[in-house]
Amino acid sequence: MRPEILNRLFAPTTSLSGVGPRVAKLIEQVAGTKMADLLWHLPVGIIDRRYAPKVADARPGTVATMTLTVDEHRPPHNPRQPYKVICSDDSGSLTLVFFHARTDYLRQRLPVGEIRVVSGTIEHFGHEIQITHPDHMGTMAQIEQLRAVEPVYRLTAGLSLKVLGKAILGALEGAPDLKEWSDPAFLFTNAWPSWRQAISTAHAPEREVDLELESPARERLAYDELLANQLALALVRLNMRRLPGRSIRGDGSLRQRTLDALPFRLTESQETALAEIIADMADGARMLRLLQGDVGSGKTVVSLLAMLAAVETGAQAALMAPTEILARQHLATIEPLAAAAGRKIGLLTGHDKGRGRQATLDGLASGEISIAIGTHALFQEGVEFHDLALAVIDEQHRFGVHQRLTLAAKGGAIDVLVMTATPIPRTLMLTAYGDMDVSRLPEKPAGRRPIDTRVMPLSRIADVVGAVRRSLDADAKVFWVCPLIEESEELDVAAAAARYRELSQIFGGRVGLLHGRMKGRDKNAAMVAFTDGPVDILVATTVIEVGVDVAAATVMVIEHAERFGLAQLHQLRGRVGRGAKAAACLLLYASPLTQMARARLEILRETDDGFRIAEEDLRLRGAGELLGTRQSGLPAFHLADLTAHGDLLAAARDDAKLIIDRDPDLEQPRGHALRTLLYLFERDAAVKYLRSG
Ligand code: ADP
Ligand code: MG
Repeated sequence: MRPEILNRLFAPTTSLSGVGPRVAKLIEQVAGTKMADLLWHLPVGIIDRRYAPKVADARPGTVATMTLTVDEHRPPHNPRQPYKVICSDDSGSLTLVFFHARTDYLRQRLPVGEIRVVSGTIEHFGHEIQITHPDHMGTMAQIEQLRAVEPVYRLTAGLSLKVLGKAILGALEGAPDLKEWSDPAFLFTNAWPSWRQAISTAHAPEREVDLELESPARERLAYDELLANQLALALVRLNMRRLPGRSIRGDGSLRQRTLDALPFRLTESQETALAEIIADMADGARMLRLLQGDVGSGKTVVSLLAMLAAVETGAQAALMAPTEILARQHLATIEPLAAAAGRKIGLLTGHDKGRGRQATLDGLASGEISIAIGTHALFQEGVEFHDLALAVIDEQHRFGVHQRLTLAAKGGAIDVLVMTATPIPRTLMLTAYGDMDVSRLPEKPAGRRPIDTRVMPLSRIADVVGAVRRSLDADAKVFWVCPLIEESEELDVAAAAARYRELSQIFGGRVGLLHGRMKGRDKNAAMVAFTDGPVDILVATTVIEVGVDVAAATVMVIEHAERFGLAQLHQLRGRVGRGAKAAACLLLYASPLTQMARARLEILRETDDGFRIAEEDLRLRGAGELLGTRQSGLPAFHLADLTAHGDLLAAARDDAKLIIDRDPDLEQPRGHALRTLLYLFERDAAVKYLRSG
């Protein structure tokens, strides 16, 4: 249960006075629906109202707060003209300008002959000094309430700074004092304030430096968020470790037979990774290991050998892929090799129905099937294994990891190996997986040639078509990737369907189409037509990103490359050049390119090292945009920014480790405060792993 003290922060924003359903909708667009979301919406700038010049001295373009006498109201002659109020001080006169003015309101707020304090942006209009729609107008007494320095927040159309600022102030007033969850010595050495103080200070910047990510208040808040993230991951992991594991020690016989059947030798990094995995499996504790390597680095073979090690003991293994296409592809790779070892493979996806499905289920339950390959359907209810010992999860580029880590909690003592092709930078890796054991495959199997990568404007599409024609003459297969599924004139997106039609007019039946909205069966048919059929150009949306392996494909064309994340582009590019032939990748961009976009695409031209690409992308764009965080499944942070707070993340990891060592069930006083922290950042799913959760 969420601690009561947090209730107010989890109340809807509509519980604030001045926030009705309409305003709440607008606030939801920029911040969220809860009071806490308002707190996380930190200022991006300041308006300094301390500048209080005489009218004659007021600099145009600055925000000035002035004490003026109201001299005269000048209603417009026709409604399209503004309503003017002439004011003055002893240095000169200033005009307040209002469009669509409510006359009564202005007469009441600005009575002629009275003194008023007015604040707004100074403009010079011909010889006139004026302020259009002042931000504030009040009496001398009310000036006290005028904040000398006002925070500026990110807004949306229809939501004014005044309204949002007031809502945030309201949320701040309702923010409770929370028991300290951080180590006092740590706070002291960093000179960090308490949480309550930090959130207030972060919303009350006095100077520009207060807005910096490295300011004490912001660092403290970022650290809290990162600590919640790391603690939650550590708890999940601890929970896994607590469950009984089993020691899997195969005799190596099946592995040997498969190795003998392979037309190649394992690379050194494959050998190392495999040894690490085998050692984990032999260990009594549960394995939770990540196998990280670029597309084509040879993860599948490693995972197969690990699965065979489990099968050697008479147990079963399962390989889960993110899509049906990929599952089928793994099947195609693995089945012949497993056959060499004399073992049976079963395929289970959401589309398998009826008798075939029942036969697979029976085989899994009896143990007749040694290795199951499939989609998440593998771990749905009604699927029973005779004795599942190892689950391999092929994430490819998706990190939807949290739930899947807990998958192991379902069955008996299952070892888990997660494969990812995303060259996640170390920092991001920590946020997504915590302190997980990692094996890496940094070297590519020998014989791969670098992919010739070119960057060019979309306007040269005719040249591209020419180049495609030439490569088709040389028996190449071509991937042609478009970013969106359907034509959207507004965004001027080169849609796959339209491109398909255009290319079909040129190349006829040699063009195929594959996109995310097609039915599974149609997708498969499109793939088969490309791999084994008459189709030589496959126009596709990014569905192909997740793994498709077509050895004959040597050309990759990507339209609107500037809209993709670098890691995404890198993975797409990895789809070609898997055979022995030279491969090429054409990155087409819409002009004009921003300087940053150009720099990003250049990195791809310069290097084929996925880890370097990921680090550069993180550096250039920040974690928020990397890979398009939304679909990546990476945790989104409100307060932490990993480009600036990477060191804090490492500290939070160490802190979490220490906490778990000393008080694994968060039962001591600090532990209780930490529970509140987990709830505050909605990482409370982890709380249920505590013994007294
Ligand atoms: P990943 O799963 O990492 O994308 P795969 O395991 O599918 O990579 O391997 C890509 C291709 O490289 C496959 O055709 C595979 O047979 C081949 N391969 C794997 N390991 C080696 C190796 N050591 N030497 C040569 N080719 C290899
Ligand atoms: Mg693979």
